[in-house]
Amino acid sequence: MDTRIQRPHDAGPSSELQSDTVNKEGSSVEGTFVCISCGLEEHYHYRGKHPPFATSIKCLDTSYVMRDPFAPAKPSSSSRRHKEVNEPFLILGGDCKSCKRPVCRDPECSIFYQHHYCLSCASKNYNKFPVNIQRKLKRP
Ligand SMILES: [Zn+2]
Ligand SMILES: [Zn+2]
Repeated sequence: MDTRIQRPHDAGPSSELQSDTVNKEGSSVEGTFVCISCGLEEHYHYRGKHPPFATSIKCLDTSYVMRDPFAPAKPSSSSRRHKEVNEPFLILGGDCKSCKRPVCRDPECSIFYQHHYCLSCASKNYNKFPVNIQRKLKRP
């Protein structure tokens, strides 16, 4: 009977030193969001599509999300339907699909069509957007 334990390739004790702490998806990493267009600078608590503290929203694209420090901790009354869901977080913006740079949600800075686009990239791809999006863009 063979009782020897077959070891997988042993690379030595120091092989685990380079354990990467950064997520491959780039999510759940806090940092500073700076809009390339208006210079808005905010600390974000989450970058990704599924913020763990804001379960009611679905980010269609990778977004920068911050917990809102000023949000009242009151339960939302069901009497009024608000446009925005009243949860203690803010979506700051996202990475431009085209140039990969962060842009805030301000309509002066970005436009959302399936992905975030900064306005300069959006106007470069003007013809690729549907008409209702084109109306929001300045003609190139
Ligand atoms: Zn901006
Ligand atoms: Zn861009």
